[in-house]
Amino acid sequence: MSRTILVTGGAGFIGSHLCQALIDRGDGVVCLDNFSTGDRANIAHLLDNKNFSVLVQDVAEPITVEVDEIYNLACPASPVHYQRDPVQTTRTCVLGAISVLELARKLGVPVLQASTSEIYGDPEVHPQIETYVGHVNPIGPRACYDEGKRCAETLFFDYHRQYDTKIKIARIFNTYGPNMAPDDGRVVSNFIVQALSGNPLTIHGTGSQTRSFCYVDDTVAALIALMDTPKGVTGPINIGNPEEHTVRGIAEMIVAAIASSSSLDLRPLPEDDPRRRRPDINLALTVLNWSPTISLNEGLARTIDYFRGEGAPARKDASAF
Ligand code: NAD
Ligand code: UDP
Repeated sequence: MSRTILVTGGAGFIGSHLCQALIDRGDGVVCLDNFSTGDRANIAHLLDNKNFSVLVQDVAEPITVEVDEIYNLACPASPVHYQRDPVQTTRTCVLGAISVLELARKLGVPVLQASTSEIYGDPEVHPQIETYVGHVNPIGPRACYDEGKRCAETLFFDYHRQYDTKIKIARIFNTYGPNMAPDDGRVVSNFIVQALSGNPLTIHGTGSQTRSFCYVDDTVAALIALMDTPKGVTGPINIGNPEEHTVRGIAEMIVAAIASSSSLDLRPLPEDDPRRRRPDINLALTVLNWSPTISLNEGLARTIDYFRGEGAPARKDASAF
């Protein structure tokens, strides 16, 4: 039986892949977005599909649609973007959570929260396991996002306990792939754009900090698997690739993959930048029977093709909106 699914933030990087995957399996999709960091071009090719519609609004405003499931992805995710208007970021995280939870409560449908590894802050436990409560600076420049997302998790669990709302929380670790904006500001897209244009790669600090990068198709498969779990499965569940790399290592891999002449340009390390990050994914393995399938080499090759324009899906003129 075909269902209708609300994807907030559906015009963004991960959201657009999620919309596509849900459409591909026969669901109807309502994509809610205010296009603050999303791109109309990411979803323009879906506009002719009768199972796809777009709702242009702020997630923090009351939502009035009839749907069977809700994925809440609406929120800027790149540090550059979420720090540009930090009050709006906290508002999106907190009021956006209340907005989707109220809808889920009213309709009696499950709601999945795109939470984040930033819940763990600059972690003192490594690798990060879901029971670790984190090490977050509540007054630093990343707090609008970190504390906003932490408060959203609080709201999800309080709606679950107080109103029996069906909740699912995914703690997503660094995800990359096609449909990232060239000016997104995150490390993989920055380095690929810089390497393709022959500009120096901007390494923050010494580049010894680590991240674990998951290709977007793997992340989307995990989100759908989590939504499809029985009601009692709430998470939080870590979704990410447990292979850990230094930022300098990623820069070197990208320069080599592109055979670029770019040099490395060391810049100051941003305040509160986490020193290391790697998910413990045993819970995802056990509960979702999920683990990433796409290697970093393969994922980077696909992403590089996308930024070269070779792998990008046929896109329509975004003025179709
Ligand atoms: P993105 O910036 O590409 O997408 C976010 C989307 O939300 C955009 O389309 C944007 O226009 C929309 N949006 C932002 N504020 C909104 C608002 N107030 N109302 C309506 N729409 C709004 O980011 P992404 O990487 O696709 O991230 C999607 C979600 O996944 C976010 O919630 C993010 O916190 C979470 N996440 C992403 C990563 C990652 O590595 N990409 C990691 C952890 C968590
Ligand atoms: N980074 C970098 N150069 C860039 C962009 C990011 O060295 O041009 C670093 C950033 O300081 C962090 C890591 O790469 O240590 C990952 O940053 P990103 O913004 O992708 O995500 P984060 O995990 O910090 O949210």
